[in-house]
Amino acid sequence: MPHASPLADWKLAQEATARLLASADEVIFSYARQSEDAEMRPSRLVAQLVGHAKELPAEWMRMDSGADLTETYEDASQVPFPYTEVSGGAGTLTRQSLCAFQAFATARLDAEDWEPAEVGLNAKQRGQLLHAVLHRVWAGANEGGIASHAELRALADLRGFVEGRVREVMRESFDPKRRASLPARFPVRYLQLEAERLTRLVTEWLEYERERLPFIVAGTEVKNRVTVAGLTFDLRLDRVDELQNGSRLVIDYKSSEVGPKAWEGDRPDDVQLPLYASFAVKEELEGLVIARVRPGKIEFCGRVRDASAMLRSDLKSSNGMVTKPLTDRQLRDWREQIERLGEAFVAGRAEVDPKDPVKTCERCHLHAVCRIYENQPLAAVVAEEDSDGIDDGGDDGDRDA
Ligand code: SF4
Repeated sequence: MPHASPLADWKLAQEATARLLASADEVIFSYARQSEDAEMRPSRLVAQLVGHAKELPAEWMRMDSGADLTETYEDASQVPFPYTEVSGGAGTLTRQSLCAFQAFATARLDAEDWEPAEVGLNAKQRGQLLHAVLHRVWAGANEGGIASHAELRALADLRGFVEGRVREVMRESFDPKRRASLPARFPVRYLQLEAERLTRLVTEWLEYERERLPFIVAGTEVKNRVTVAGLTFDLRLDRVDELQNGSRLVIDYKSSEVGPKAWEGDRPDDVQLPLYASFAVKEELEGLVIARVRPGKIEFCGRVRDASAMLRSDLKSSNGMVTKPLTDRQLRDWREQIERLGEAFVAGRAEVDPKDPVKTCERCHLHAVCRIYENQPLAAVVAEEDSDGIDDGGDDGDRDA
């Protein structure tokens, strides 16, 4: 383990220095003579390996002209994306909207973040389990599930049905090998609690869906390929329902507060559902909705042409799905916007230009690559916002009334 003992650290430093030495024909080590008020000395390790430090050649010495040696250079160069396929699905276009450099760094440079180590399951893994259970619920009779509103209403023991699906998913997701990777003290009881939580949550969700108007599940985890600005994207959608009039309802499960406000504006926060709705659905589209599956906050929200006639008849007139229905105009706007984002990505637009310099950057993992926090004025803005106690909970306020 690094830093466990001085000897281990010394060995680690030796290996790192040897690696540096072997990395090029000529390697130059340098050191700062002073750090704040303290005088510094050259590394003993480097001295052992390559000899004592020498004075810098005179021509390398900084000329103290008094002039500012920093030059500002606006880099407007663009390197067009040379391929016709891109990984990352709709996420790449969402990132292009949030900050062009974010899309460039993740889709073209493969810049990744470390997953923080957490005891037990993290939020992402919990979300994956929830998706897996809902997928199993709506998998149809051949796989022990159901596939329609009528079948849901016919279930005599809804909780027992959900319990069975949760058990299957937990068994498959946590085979003995995976269990061994969890902390030894609590795997069994911990997983039991997780199973109970999922059972409660999914049962609550299905009770809500029972009150819907009739539907048939046309598919879950639906895969699709779409082409935007000459680029092919592989999409996967949580679920597509066929409604009473034969039209389709596109559904995305979310355990966060995200809502349809994320689809609005010139630079939407999320283009996944608009992309799917406006490029992938070939049948008549009735709407696109987010299924918020959160403890105590179970609801659909989104854009539907006639939500009261096709989704639920008990919606209040103030409900966001009623007040802001889906229109052909909206679909056309999304299409044009998404095409523009695709064209910008293909053209190589990669400027560091966060949509919101505080919120967008806070949620982005690329600080080490784009180094935006070295921009002092922005850092000051962030600090000021932090001290004001800005709520970054992500609630976009488009909840059902
Ligand atoms: S940290 Fe901010 S500026 Fe940097 S890539 Fe992310 S969103 Fe863009």
